[in-house]
Amino acid sequence: MNAANVNDHMNGGEPVSAALRAETLFRERFGQGPDGAWAAPGRANLIGEHTDYNDGFVLPFALDRLTVVAAATAAARRWTVCSEARQECVDFDESALVPGGVPGWAGYVAGVIWSLRQAGYDVPGASLAIASDVPVGAGLSSSAALECSVLGALADLGGLDLPVGQRPVLAQRAEAEYVGMPCGLLDQSASVLCQAGQVLFLDCRSFEMTQIPFDATAAGLTVLIIDTRAEHGLVDGEYAARRQSCEAAAKALGLRALREVDVEELPMALDRLPDEVLRHRTRHVVTENARVIATVKALRSGDLAGIGPLLTASHASLRDDYEVTVDQLDTAVEAALAAGAHGARMTGGGFGGCVLALVDTTDRDRVAGAVTEAFDRAGFTAPIMFTTPPGDGARRLW
Ligand code: ADP
Ligand code: MG
Repeated sequence: MNAANVNDHMNGGEPVSAALRAETLFRERFGQGPDGAWAAPGRANLIGEHTDYNDGFVLPFALDRLTVVAAATAAARRWTVCSEARQECVDFDESALVPGGVPGWAGYVAGVIWSLRQAGYDVPGASLAIASDVPVGAGLSSSAALECSVLGALADLGGLDLPVGQRPVLAQRAEAEYVGMPCGLLDQSASVLCQAGQVLFLDCRSFEMTQIPFDATAAGLTVLIIDTRAEHGLVDGEYAARRQSCEAAAKALGLRALREVDVEELPMALDRLPDEVLRHRTRHVVTENARVIATVKALRSGDLAGIGPLLTASHASLRDDYEVTVDQLDTAVEAALAAGAHGARMTGGGFGGCVLALVDTTDRDRVAGAVTEAFDRAGFTAPIMFTTPPGDGARRLW
């Protein structure tokens, strides 16, 4: 992997962490030091795509890449939030704390304040400076990282008694209800609750969760994340359309959600569905849930490389049945597999974003090189690649 793939923020050849950049930004913008710094990671989903809103299973892990907010309380009930990525500061007061009241990126921050207040918490005014090593808009959940880091900061600055188990839903409401992006609980749960060296097995109906050890490094394996940099063109309408198809299929089957169809009952369920599109969407959701369960079983038995074919089958299902891939995603998966990856799949909502590939650590650079070459041949923008072990969830840094 070449240097440009590692970190955009360099100083004399050394990467500068988001934590340091957030603190520097705070001092520049507010002329004093912050009271502390809070971090939350982006996430990748190992497997279990488009299952969360079907009450199904997901298996995310936190990236070792963080969004960091350096923050201090302010005298009045005002909030000033600065983002390195957006090169601007946005200032608002209580009058903006109605859904949609603050437009654009700062709405994710205002949404967290709104959500906390809706839940009865007294949120102090604050100055906030944000820097991030999570790629923005690449399907690695920079939005949840932003919400969850800000939530941690406001909880501590205000001395709020905010149990960890409640944090994902408070952050999710900021995005779903204040910003107006209808998301499930996957991203915020992963950003808050994931632990280093583990993937989080989450049942999106019962919210039961289990940490499953995933020590790829010890098994001689690496998860390579390939940001295809494909633009998310039609994503909003298409995401909503997929959700509607799933709801229609569940209704036609007399069920609350497709999660209730067992993979053995799938042929029967498909026979009862009125159209081809619903049959395809249902087949993806039902087989994907089964693949998550099979992945958990393989990981529990210590067979990490054995999950490769499940990852690849997940991608094929998302490509052929769910129809949410684009050429760049398919090309990255094919090139990684041809270069010897154990398995590869798109991760995130699709229509662009990232692929993850499970590779022997010794093959990492070869696979990365093969993907770069394939993109070059196809005339695509060069992909950005990095590796990440499963990291820790949201936390205070100091
Ligand atoms: P993803 O969560 O996959 O990165 P989203 O579209 O859900 O993509 O969220 C991206 C949006 O979140 C950005 O367009 C911006 O509004 C906001 N955002 C995320 N990180 C930052 C950041 N560091 N600074 C400002 N805004 C951010
Ligand atoms: Mg997001």
